[in-house]
Amino acid sequence: MMHAILARRPGGPEVLEFSEVDRPVPGPGQLLVKVAAAGVNFIDTYQRGGIYKVPFPFTPGSEASGTVVELGDGTGGFSVGSRVATAEGSHCYAGYTVFDADKALPVPDGVDDLTAAALPLQGMTAHYLINSSFRVEPGHTVLTHAGAGGVGLLLIQLLKARGARVITTVSTHGKEALARAAGADEVLGYDGFADAVRGLTGGTGVDVVYDGVGKDTFDDSLSSLRTRGTLVLFGAASGPVPLFDPQRLNSGGSLSITRPTIRHFLLNAQERRWRSTEIFRAAADGSLNVRIGASYPLAEAARAHTDLEGRLTTGKVLLVP
Ligand code: NDP
Repeated sequence: MMHAILARRPGGPEVLEFSEVDRPVPGPGQLLVKVAAAGVNFIDTYQRGGIYKVPFPFTPGSEASGTVVELGDGTGGFSVGSRVATAEGSHCYAGYTVFDADKALPVPDGVDDLTAAALPLQGMTAHYLINSSFRVEPGHTVLTHAGAGGVGLLLIQLLKARGARVITTVSTHGKEALARAAGADEVLGYDGFADAVRGLTGGTGVDVVYDGVGKDTFDDSLSSLRTRGTLVLFGAASGPVPLFDPQRLNSGGSLSITRPTIRHFLLNAQERRWRSTEIFRAAADGSLNVRIGASYPLAEAARAHTDLEGRLTTGKVLLVP
């Protein structure tokens, strides 16, 4: 037996029950992993709430780090005791979980277990956003929202390392300080940010907006772009964006919009290795600071969700079994 979080139906954070369940058994191509820490991500809240459909009863969590304790058939390359992490797991809010071996990332020396749980999903997201959704080049001006969030703090650092000028939005002074420490050139509140961005860019607008906030920022994000700029809408922390008229892209200056999701940017072993190696290397050599803003005991998963959805967290949120 083991402890795990179980939601018996979709709903608010209160549906997340600390339960005792059977330990999973690794099938062919799978590793049984003793979880060191599970990453909490916004997608977990969409799944818990029923916005993204999942089968119930449901144990959330697609991200974790830990140690391999049992090998399924055909998992050469790993051994009992290997340190691994994943951004593409399932049922990670638990004492043990199974990883598909082809989606398990070896954790390098120099990356501790908590950092290894904090980095895969948000780190590889920041990586694909700036390399593949829109290729940021030195000299680009970028607007990214929620600059003190999990993705936000990583994105700011990767953008600065690329040589971009970074404008970000945050909701509090404490978050402003974190965004500045990560390297943001300009930090704005959300009210009237499109006008402020115009002011900061001599009326031109930015090359690209990375928007994980969604409903509340979408329209002003489009208004912040330069002619032929790109909106990368990658999340909906404030709620899903309503239907919009594509003509808005024309009147805004022949704008482009894309709505990416991480699994389409981890299409094969080579892509997974490229992204994970670069972000783990940056964490190990200290060029990427991974802020773990909060670490909760597994039993307090409901509080972790409440705080994440209530904008009370910064950086990464972890659950520790
Ligand atoms: P964050 O740590 O960034 O938390 C969300 C932040 O959004 C909050 O802290 C808050 O920052 C801001 N926010 C603005 N309005 C609201 C609101 N109404 N309710 C809640 N938060 C709000 O979360 P993550 O880093 O985990 O994720 C950020 C976004 O990226 C999410 O939308 C997520 O779904 C998305 N994502 C998308 C992926 C993809 O592949 N498409 C992969 C990973 C994440 P502030 O208070 O400063 O405004």
